[in-house]
Amino acid sequence: MTTMTAPKAHAAEQSSNGILHDVGLPDDPNNLYTQTVGSMLHAAEIMDLPRYLRLILAQPKNEIMVHFPVKMDSGKYELFKGYRVQHNNALGPYKGGLRFHHDVHLDDVKSLAFLMTMKCSLVGVPYGGGKGGIKVDPRKHSATEMERIVRRFTAAIAHQIGPDYDIPAPDVGSNSQHMAWIADTYTFLSEIGGHNPGAVITGKPIEYGGSLGREKATGQGVVDTLVEMLPELKLKPETSTFSVLGFGNVGSWSGKIFQDKGAKMTAVADHTGFIRNDKGIDANDLAAYVHQKGGVAGYSKATTISKEEFYKTQVDVFIPAALEQMIQEPEANMLNCKVVAEGANAPTTPAGERILQKRGIEVLPAILCNAGGVTVSYFEWVQNKTFQTWELERVDRELNKHMVKAAGRTRDARRKYNCDLRTAAYAAALERLQKAYEARGIFP
Ligand code: GLU
Repeated sequence: MTTMTAPKAHAAEQSSNGILHDVGLPDDPNNLYTQTVGSMLHAAEIMDLPRYLRLILAQPKNEIMVHFPVKMDSGKYELFKGYRVQHNNALGPYKGGLRFHHDVHLDDVKSLAFLMTMKCSLVGVPYGGGKGGIKVDPRKHSATEMERIVRRFTAAIAHQIGPDYDIPAPDVGSNSQHMAWIADTYTFLSEIGGHNPGAVITGKPIEYGGSLGREKATGQGVVDTLVEMLPELKLKPETSTFSVLGFGNVGSWSGKIFQDKGAKMTAVADHTGFIRNDKGIDANDLAAYVHQKGGVAGYSKATTISKEEFYKTQVDVFIPAALEQMIQEPEANMLNCKVVAEGANAPTTPAGERILQKRGIEVLPAILCNAGGVTVSYFEWVQNKTFQTWELERVDRELNKHMVKAAGRTRDARRKYNCDLRTAAYAAALERLQKAYEARGIFP
């Protein structure tokens, strides 16, 4: 595997700035949306994508922002802010999760919606891209408050979503219980309106229309990608060591499933602290601990280390599975790994990535690596629409087919355009979108 920067890189950067300017976007290099769209425009330049497509994809179709009041347990009212961004629906209904986080902003949601368009295209599911969220810290609210917040948010966006139009799902801070409340609220409102609620949301509890394998799906996809890509880097999953940043749904499942392949997890970090054990940390045991205590801090079967020691821990694979923009220049300089497998969305900044490239560290890009979640969301939706229930074995097998194909498309694009894997993944995703636009044309 090579990590070559494309020869046209400089020209591509200049041209990206032109498009950003044309669609009225800031060219602030620290802005997340500018960064994510900038990487896509870099690929677009290298593959000579027509300008009209670059313009269309540089901005989302719809940006919806809502404010809604909710009664707290104390009897007082609070006003909440919610979002749904619908980036593109050329390949199918908008699709993407809902983030519940105290620090969620429109730009984050736009970036994540954009990434969903790219991810769905690359992994070959018939969806466009969307994302939403509520500016709320779920940890600070009781279950009853969260239920009212989630149901009221659903009512606020009910006219903007739908089983054939825009299908939300879980993301950071949201879970299957939240999805159940959304499905129930939407169903209730739709019955009044006479619509068929159907599969309006994925990531639901198994007992209420969810799919087997959905909860672990993103982690499963990360490991499927590693199993597919590591041999090219002369690494074997069964003898690999790895560290994980973020031990929520994606981090813990990636850890558990990679460990089942024989790999050894030696360092973990989350918002509560950094831990290490060179003999190995059992991912199942740590997940149970985190479930109880809320974080990795204080885990007695590992040593507490500093942030610097965490990043400098020598491993084969580093899995960032937390939030965006966490691998900036200092972290990229400290990392002591051969491969970064992006379990989170957009964890590496362009400046961080340039350092990783210089240091010969391969990055398995998020739109490939973490596409397992939306792929199994698609299977859930298909099951809902056809009144079927698939066995776990079938879900895992079909997921693996999608991941292996997406990895193959990325490899082919890298050969064709002689570029790094992120640019290649975008190019493969853009090729599919280009074909769709060429076939359907632009109305009127
Ligand atoms: N939130 C997940 C993602 O970023 C899953 C989205 C979905 O299942 O629709 O890929």
